[in-house]
Amino acid sequence: MKVMKFGGTSVGNAERIRNVAGLVAESGRNLVVVSAVSGTTNSLVEFSDYLYNGNPDGAKDVVARLESSYDRLIGELYHTKEAAGKASEYVQEVFGYLRTMSRQLFTTTEEKVVLAQGELISSHLLAWCLEEMGVKVRLLPALDFMKTDSRGEPDTDYIRTGLNALIEKHPEAELFVTQGFICRNLHHEIDNLKRGGSDYTASLVGAAIGAEEIQIWTDIDGMQNNDPKIVENTAPVRHLHFDEAAELGYFGAKILHPTCIQPAKFAGIPVRLLNTMAPASPGTLIDNVRDRGSIKAVAAKGNITAISIRSSRMLLAHGFLRRVFEIFESWQTSIDMICTSEVGVSVSIDNTTHLNEIVHDLKKYGTVTVDMDMCIICVVGDMDWENVGFETRAMEAMKDIPVRMVSYGGSNYNISFLVKDEDKVRTLRSLSKCLFEKC
Ligand code: ASP
Ligand code: MG
Repeated sequence: MKVMKFGGTSVGNAERIRNVAGLVAESGRNLVVVSAVSGTTNSLVEFSDYLYNGNPDGAKDVVARLESSYDRLIGELYHTKEAAGKASEYVQEVFGYLRTMSRQLFTTTEEKVVLAQGELISSHLLAWCLEEMGVKVRLLPALDFMKTDSRGEPDTDYIRTGLNALIEKHPEAELFVTQGFICRNLHHEIDNLKRGGSDYTASLVGAAIGAEEIQIWTDIDGMQNNDPKIVENTAPVRHLHFDEAAELGYFGAKILHPTCIQPAKFAGIPVRLLNTMAPASPGTLIDNVRDRGSIKAVAAKGNITAISIRSSRMLLAHGFLRRVFEIFESWQTSIDMICTSEVGVSVSIDNTTHLNEIVHDLKKYGTVTVDMDMCIICVVGDMDWENVGFETRAMEAMKDIPVRMVSYGGSNYNISFLVKDEDKVRTLRSLSKCLFEKC
């Protein structure tokens, strides 16, 4: 059995929902995970904000807007009166429920119920569309098996037992559909896996059923080896190790969030990124297989600030780094890159909310300098320290570019450079040339 997850834009309108239905109907006895129709979760957040702010009229406007968009969608989606009737009745019930919410009784508990409606609607709409096509489809309610524990983390034993029992109950089913994102918490209340959580659902259910593969369908063509908006002739990355994917996740390289792929990685289940617009294209496969010595991709993250602290007291001292790190911790600021020498340390941060306070506190320990408007460029691939040559190739690309920091050794899959934001474009181009073409 495969898990096939479709994001909000993949079910963004009637034509796209039909397209998804066509894709999954022919795929075999699989489990489909679906996000809310794009824009819906944002609207439900907006609805909740109006209620929190004591503006029920604003909330009603949002419901009216959503209602008319779903009326149109349902009008276009179904061929039979029966399916359209069922769908209309369902969404009317949801919108009727939203209209009963008042600000007096609105708390985070109600908000979570509200946010769950997006996935509940999209999964029903898709299931009825499949039924109309003659597919024997079963809708498996995520609220019956997705659960978080006392730490707010997914309760994987509960999920595995619950989901497999549900699947076994329906031997007649040709296809299963469930909701991404939504779950119950320890107190059995409706909750969610945080915004963008449907990928996480896909990975969790894939691990729970021991899926043969987890497919993440979006509307982009897999992963490219560099930013196609900046570099000409980028090429698709066909294969990544889970750890390479995790490195790239931080750079928002249109790939899964590192925590989302964790369950798939531990269960050894391959994840494939696919494009609904080009379903025959092989996409990008992520698994536990290493491609010895191969450099896969380059990515950048701008708006970075570098801070360095130099102090002769650091020489031969212990506890210096701990004191420095404690300052960042006390200001809830996470450090991304770090480089040290015998008498100094440089770190990079992307959240500058407490920069002044951090600099003030660091001055206790040494001379502090700050460089703003920097950019982290990371090179990702199989770069085990026993491999030779990859550092030279990456460094060669940097020969005309001022580099503020270099970091390697934190993992076997990444070298990072910190350069000026203004040098980002030429750095990315130069790296592509040296790593993926002939230098
Ligand atoms: N619908 C949810 C969101 O927009 C979950 C998801 O799309 O993954 O955040
Ligand atoms: Mg999404």
